Amino acid sequence: MSDQYVYYFGAGKAEGRAQMKELLGGKGANLAEMTNLDIPVPPGFTISTEVCSLYYKSNRTYPDEVRTQVAENLDRLEKEMGKKLGDKNDPLLVSVRSGAAVSMPGMMDTVLNLGLNSSAVEGIAKNTGNARFAWDAYRRFIQMYGNVVMGVPHDDFEKELNAIKMEKGVKADTELDANDLRKVVSSYMAVYERTVKREFPQDPIEQLWGAINAVFGSWNNERAIKYRTINKIGGLLGTAVNVQSMVYGNWSETSGTGVCFSRDPSTGENYFYGEYLMNAQGEDVVAGIRTPEPLSSLESSNPEVYQQLIGVKERLERHYKDMQDMEFTIQEGRLFLLQTRNGKRTGKAAVKVAVDLVNEEMISRENAVSRITAEQLDQLLHPMISTSVKKTLKAIAKGLEASPGAAVGKVVFSADEAEKWVDRGEKVVLVRSETSPEDIGGMHVAEGILTSTGGMTSHAAVVARGMGKPCVAGCKAIVIDEDAKNFNVDGIIYKEGDFITLDGSDGAVYAGSIELEKPSLGAELNELLSWADEIRHSAKRVGVEDGFMVRTNADLPQDAKLAVDFGAEGIGLTRTEHMFFDEAKLTSFRRMIVAESLQERVDALKPILKLQIEDFRGIFRVMDGKPVTIRLLDPPLHEFVPHSEEEVRELAKGLGTEFGKLMRRIRGLRELNPMLGHRGCRLGITYPEVYDMQVEAIMSAAVSEAKAGIDVRPEIMIPLIGSAAELEVLRANAQKVIERVLNAADVRINYLIGTMIEIPRAALTADIIAPHADFYSFGTNDLTQMTFGFSRDDVGSFIPEYLEKKILSVDPFQTLDASGVGQLVEMGVSKARAVKPTLKAGICGEHGGDPSSIAFCYKANLNYVSCSPYRVPIARLTAAQAVLKAN
Ligand code: PEP
Ligand code: MG
Repeated sequence: MSDQYVYYFGAGKAEGRAQMKELLGGKGANLAEMTNLDIPVPPGFTISTEVCSLYYKSNRTYPDEVRTQVAENLDRLEKEMGKKLGDKNDPLLVSVRSGAAVSMPGMMDTVLNLGLNSSAVEGIAKNTGNARFAWDAYRRFIQMYGNVVMGVPHDDFEKELNAIKMEKGVKADTELDANDLRKVVSSYMAVYERTVKREFPQDPIEQLWGAINAVFGSWNNERAIKYRTINKIGGLLGTAVNVQSMVYGNWSETSGTGVCFSRDPSTGENYFYGEYLMNAQGEDVVAGIRTPEPLSSLESSNPEVYQQLIGVKERLERHYKDMQDMEFTIQEGRLFLLQTRNGKRTGKAAVKVAVDLVNEEMISRENAVSRITAEQLDQLLHPMISTSVKKTLKAIAKGLEASPGAAVGKVVFSADEAEKWVDRGEKVVLVRSETSPEDIGGMHVAEGILTSTGGMTSHAAVVARGMGKPCVAGCKAIVIDEDAKNFNVDGIIYKEGDFITLDGSDGAVYAGSIELEKPSLGAELNELLSWADEIRHSAKRVGVEDGFMVRTNADLPQDAKLAVDFGAEGIGLTRTEHMFFDEAKLTSFRRMIVAESLQERVDALKPILKLQIEDFRGIFRVMDGKPVTIRLLDPPLHEFVPHSEEEVRELAKGLGTEFGKLMRRIRGLRELNPMLGHRGCRLGITYPEVYDMQVEAIMSAAVSEAKAGIDVRPEIMIPLIGSAAELEVLRANAQKVIERVLNAADVRINYLIGTMIEIPRAALTADIIAPHADFYSFGTNDLTQMTFGFSRDDVGSFIPEYLEKKILSVDPFQTLDASGVGQLVEMGVSKARAVKPTLKAGICGEHGGDPSSIAFCYKANLNYVSCSPYRVPIARLTAAQAVLKAN
């Protein structure tokens, strides 16, 4: 820990810089950086995040050095500004704001206009010649300080303000004059004293420490903690506190405040995008209380400031090499920047901005690939309303397209209700006049968010974009009655629980539940993913010549097709049992299962053979030129037969068998631990005719397609091997069938026979099994089950508690347990390659689509990961990121 707790920025020079985010928070670090870049920033100082951590460790107190350094820096600030806090003639006023290393918009506290007291307010009035402004600033300060620092309910102040407005017969705050505001101040003082049981502090140093305590205290308020949990933000020291001299957007009619983005944060389009309000404070824009003006009108009303702002945004974007989110204030026609940061953006914008920045030669392809997160990419694969459906629809209302994607759900009017409804399994759309940080939990669980006020940078819009949730904001046509729990559009009432559909891409709101479709990858995403592919393909490792590949788990030709469209480079797993759930096959398959003699069984398999050949042909066609791993039957047979008396009676009728006999046979199949029972290759050993039929079907399909000019690359996979002998026998059986089929057809087809490594013993003896295998595929679902001894089907009853009690940090069925199960994977690969140096190895458990598991697989020298079709783009991206990170 360093001895410096406070960092000054001002007079064109700062003690901090952008890289010091951990210590100064994002806001503090960027204020320092902007100061060093000579961008107009009001001077101030940042109290570091280390102090926040010390504050909590030492029971909410500070070491003496902190107090000394704050005093020294305040002195420096007063000298630079030529003003003193609390001065009755020309007082300095400051803001006190939070700012952690990771942005947590609106979650922590802020106090503005600090330093005002009953003599300073007169000084401000005199100096500005604007008594109304001075008294308005003072009443805002009392309200904010009272609420944030002393916990006086916000509404208690609002009531007084409203009473004075009523008395005067006016509606807007702006209609109150200096005298009215003096009255507001004395009512506020009374409210303060009544609740706090003390007078409002007149000593600015007491005010300052009160505000600093409140900001550090807000690091652990309920909503900040919830925000960090939802966004998986951990490992931070705390928030920093920024004390900065105030500038005023509400000084006069030539003053204003705004928020802008160097590119559109919703679509990524490269145009200067923002909103502002004249004669207002920053909070008014963000809170969505007044609907702000687009930046284009600043261009016409104040071209000089607008041009200056353009210059600043261009410099900042070039400097940070990323899209910037900036806050600015104009005081009496002079521009100040109050914040810049890399802007939160939707998945769509993230991809567009990254690709554009490469094309504008600002960043490298590798940099672009490493910037996109799996979550952002996931958003692009979310449902939308198809254009053909869209043409047939009529929107009930139109708002701002605040965050793209479509959402369907039942209307609820509060965040609490949203959480309750979702807990009982409903899908909801949260409808609010505007959202506030308290709503974060409800926003998180809602499918989408609809607000009736607020602009594109309102709380709802910013948070929704960060979460990747569809959002329509500022939809003025809807009139919400929260008490009656309904909203009204043109006289039609929509009640709580009614379905609505939002399209956050164009701001449309529709009544009812509209069917959504999955989108395809756009041109930009395809370009980005092609860069990711280049990175993966060039990643050669020991025993791996052709890079780090991405395959898919697909059981049907249409799934395989979707995966290929998403960029799959092969099939890593076709679960043939899924093909048997088809009604036509199921009856024959059941006949085979309950057969009592070999002949009966062989007869029952015949019609299935034909059907399976068709399945495999379809897959080979789609996968032309790509490897296709087909797994022979894996699950226990009893899964395919009915168990209730009624169903068994029905089946007996269908099969023309006697009910009692059938029931006995089915009971005989029942197992106590089916997952560890008669399944996987054990079926192939005991019923070789089943595997023979499947191998015949695979190779017959391959022959037919090869004759039709398709490049077929079958890989036959035998599941659940625990010993080399099992594979030796099954491989020999398979080879016999294959040779018979190929000889009869008189064609040669290259094929592989491999196995799954999903029993710990197989991993431990991988070198003994390897001579019988052409490839290994790690079935980490079963491998996790058997390594932990956790039944895959029963973990729901205890895993949530394990996670809550931190016995497990992640669900090992979602993210590969690197230290345990991972050891078996590494051992399996290295033992096998000691015998067969280029043995191909992949993974086909659910982990194959999980980013951190993919990174593990890269380091474990696997040739490929295989995942469900919709995860393929994410696997392509994160596999490339794993390569970049490792090199
Ligand atoms: C596995 O066990 O990881 C696997 C892919 O097989 P299944 O999930 O079908 O048991
Ligand atoms: Mg398995």
